Amino acid sequence: MEKVIIVRYCEIYLKGNNRGYFERVFAENMEKALKGIRHEIRKRSGRYTVENFDESNEEFILDKLTKVFGVHTLSVAYKVPTSMDNIYHAASEICPEFGTFKVDTHRADKKFPLNSMAINAEIGGRLLDKHKGLKVDIHKPDVLIGVDLREDGTSLVFGNMIKGAGGMPVGTAGKGMLLISGGIDSPVAGYMMAKRGMNIDCIHFHSYPYTNMQAREKVENLAKVLAQYCCGTTLNVIKVTHIQEEIHKKCNGDFMVTLLRRFMMRIAERIAKKSGAKCLITGESLGQVASQTIEGMTSSGSVIEDLPILRPLCGFDKNEIIERSRNMGAYEISIQPYEDCCTVFLPRHPVIRPAMAEVLAEEAKLDIEALIDEALSSLEVVKIN
Ligand code: ATP
Ligand code: MG
Repeated sequence: MEKVIIVRYCEIYLKGNNRGYFERVFAENMEKALKGIRHEIRKRSGRYTVENFDESNEEFILDKLTKVFGVHTLSVAYKVPTSMDNIYHAASEICPEFGTFKVDTHRADKKFPLNSMAINAEIGGRLLDKHKGLKVDIHKPDVLIGVDLREDGTSLVFGNMIKGAGGMPVGTAGKGMLLISGGIDSPVAGYMMAKRGMNIDCIHFHSYPYTNMQAREKVENLAKVLAQYCCGTTLNVIKVTHIQEEIHKKCNGDFMVTLLRRFMMRIAERIAKKSGAKCLITGESLGQVASQTIEGMTSSGSVIEDLPILRPLCGFDKNEIIERSRNMGAYEISIQPYEDCCTVFLPRHPVIRPAMAEVLAEEAKLDIEALIDEALSSLEVVKIN
């Protein structure tokens, strides 16, 4: 029996006149995810099927598709020429020998002589005859056997559904520039915005030689994890060593993080504008650490000229963020112990609620534009597919 994968999608159907556009991007993203593997994606009414693949690639394809935003659920199905015998054989492959089950039929093919209720009853009855340890449970079955009789004379028979990543197709909501550190939070922030349809570019700031090459590699690895969900990404890497040295030398050390954040924001905005990103994204969560107070966010946000700053984790607890980090596959990388540039020259008493007047007074001791230009000239661009 031929196996196919049924792909059901989320909110796309809400998009009225734009629906065709959303579906096209969604299908393209599935194609990208399955690049290099033999398959064929077909559009059905309200869903897609992936067909003509090697059965040995089934797990691989499922893994890839569960990372495509827009996928609501997936099912592995047997595709058979419609007949009660064929449907029964496929159903008995899926049905366990023990426990509870239910058959749920949809009949698009109205010419088929039995209606859905009659098909449920007959297939269910034959399965009960075959396995004495089996029972029907119409409310909470262990296995729900779905049967779709399609108008083209074939039927799809499938077991329990696999949950997809949800969200909107990446590429339908513009592009954002993610400030990515080596920590737990920022990759999750990128994931959350990609889930709402954004393409994600990344920018990372390092303080080599105070931070080492492993820290840099760690960020590249995090960007690779993220790239699996957002159809690839571009990682911009900027050196801020001299900025930190200058702050250390000329300013009140307690303002190190506050001032550095403002430089990061300015540089990120300039690179974002060049690359067509329409917002900045950070992994900040209110109150999580000293620099993430509302005053801290006001201070770092006030240097941005045009773009909005999205902070999708702002209302999340750390353990909620960790759970998401685990689910996306970033956590084990994020907890590797390499230093981020923010921990270099870390003050013993960082200002928690920076007053704007003081921030500006400290910043006035620096040649801001020259430092930004110098940092921008260190730009390295890494493409991640
Ligand atoms: P994360 O887990 O993302 O590092 P965090 O809780 O450690 O977050 P901070 O270190 O205060 O928080 O950083 C807040 C946000 O600032 C980060 O989520 C990230 O968006 C940005 N950021 C911090 N350090 C860097 C860096 N070296 N390069 C790029 N962005 C950074
Ligand atoms: Mg951090």
